[in-house]
Amino acid sequence: MRRFSVYDTMSREVRLFVPITPPKVGLFVCGLTPYDDAHVGHAKTAVTFDVVARALRRWGYRVFYVQNVTNLDDKVIARGAELGVDPLSLADRHLARWRVAMERLGVASVNYYPHATDYIPEILVQIRQLIDQGYAYAADGSVYYEVAKFREYGKLSGQKTEALRPGARVELDKAKRSPEDFVIWKAATPGEPSWESPWGPGRPGWHIEDTAITVRLLGARYDLHGAGLDLKFPHHEAEIALAEAATGESPLVNYWMHVGLLNFKGEKMSKSLGNVVSLDDVIDEVGPGVLRFYYLNAHYRSPLDFDPDRSLSEAREAHQRLSVPRRRLLEALAQRGAEGEGVELPEEVARESAAAVERLDAVLSDDFNTREAIATLFGWSRRAGEFVGDRAKLSGAALSQLLAPYQWAEEVLGIFEPLTPTPPSTGADALVTVALEARKRARERGDFSEADRIREALKAAGVLVEDSAQGTRWESRKPRAE
Ligand SMILES: [Zn+2]
Repeated sequence: MRRFSVYDTMSREVRLFVPITPPKVGLFVCGLTPYDDAHVGHAKTAVTFDVVARALRRWGYRVFYVQNVTNLDDKVIARGAELGVDPLSLADRHLARWRVAMERLGVASVNYYPHATDYIPEILVQIRQLIDQGYAYAADGSVYYEVAKFREYGKLSGQKTEALRPGARVELDKAKRSPEDFVIWKAATPGEPSWESPWGPGRPGWHIEDTAITVRLLGARYDLHGAGLDLKFPHHEAEIALAEAATGESPLVNYWMHVGLLNFKGEKMSKSLGNVVSLDDVIDEVGPGVLRFYYLNAHYRSPLDFDPDRSLSEAREAHQRLSVPRRRLLEALAQRGAEGEGVELPEEVARESAAAVERLDAVLSDDFNTREAIATLFGWSRRAGEFVGDRAKLSGAALSQLLAPYQWAEEVLGIFEPLTPTPPSTGADALVTVALEARKRARERGDFSEADRIREALKAAGVLVEDSAQGTRWESRKPRAE
């Protein structure tokens, strides 16, 4: 296992990473609230942690990467009401599109996407623990977390509860003992999805969805929590207060990583400001490799300013300085064969290639400095470029040496991957994705008869599903004539 360090938001310093149970690493990232189509800002966090997981796996860690799906909260419900559709199916539909976009972007590192509404029993258990231990109280059919009871509240963000007093961002709720208290079980409102509970029918609050999932899947304490910077307060502060009070164990998380946000010409990208750039449109326009390059050519902690007139065209141009020599060398290697004879590289160039790969691992193991990794690749492209003109004469071994740093970039940064060139062109493909997602979740909760039923239903529709160590594949066949 390679040693690496990471900037931990809690301690406000770059720290050597020590897993709780090496080589295992538990990684949790706050995922999508799928109430609308994803924009180009959402995928920045997803690509950042995809690179983190890829790097850790390359370095010998066994990463269990969980990214939750907030498939029910106030935003999902409000949007569903606005459109006159069931909020949970609205969330399912947007999630299916998100998963297709992630597949196109080469984000395949997530092991499990738990849906909040699949964890109602765990949420109810956690609420019960919090009430029993004096951290939560029931009022008017809802249950609230009493922030004043958790003395360490604010330890992650440094923000005190005063910021949550009315007049700031929180509306007064008469059932609360104090304005900063937050709801963990919300009494049912007619027309909204609800579940039975000892406190009456209702639905979970946002923060507790995450802690119920992580305590169940990653334990009372785990290694690494990631998310966009906008979730640090109050969401992550609430996660700490909930989990540490419920389990009695501390700290919930050993390392907190927060990703700088993507702005649009200096403003937050949001639907209300009308400056949303669709993720699918950008992938269509420049391809997944260039978009990943764009995100990764900045430090993950920095904010990134998206300028529609320049950002993507500049990224595409810079990306070509890496992708063009790589493609020429790959084509030559395909012709020559890895064992093919030819001119060898001068010995110092072979050494420089190995040194470049070592430097790439080194800069990444210093707080995931992808910007420096890309600078290293540009340096290598200049050096390798001296040999690209004569590539037809080079041996297979020489070509492989010239390609080694690019291959590192393909493996860890994913900026060259030959991904699905076009989005699913039919609604049928998206439906298959939804069905396979439901089947995967059934398998994950041990409901194999439901998983088999979905597989048979797909087969009847001419879609053959095949499971393998690499994952699940499917292909569509025309029904055979009997
Ligand atoms: Zn979260």
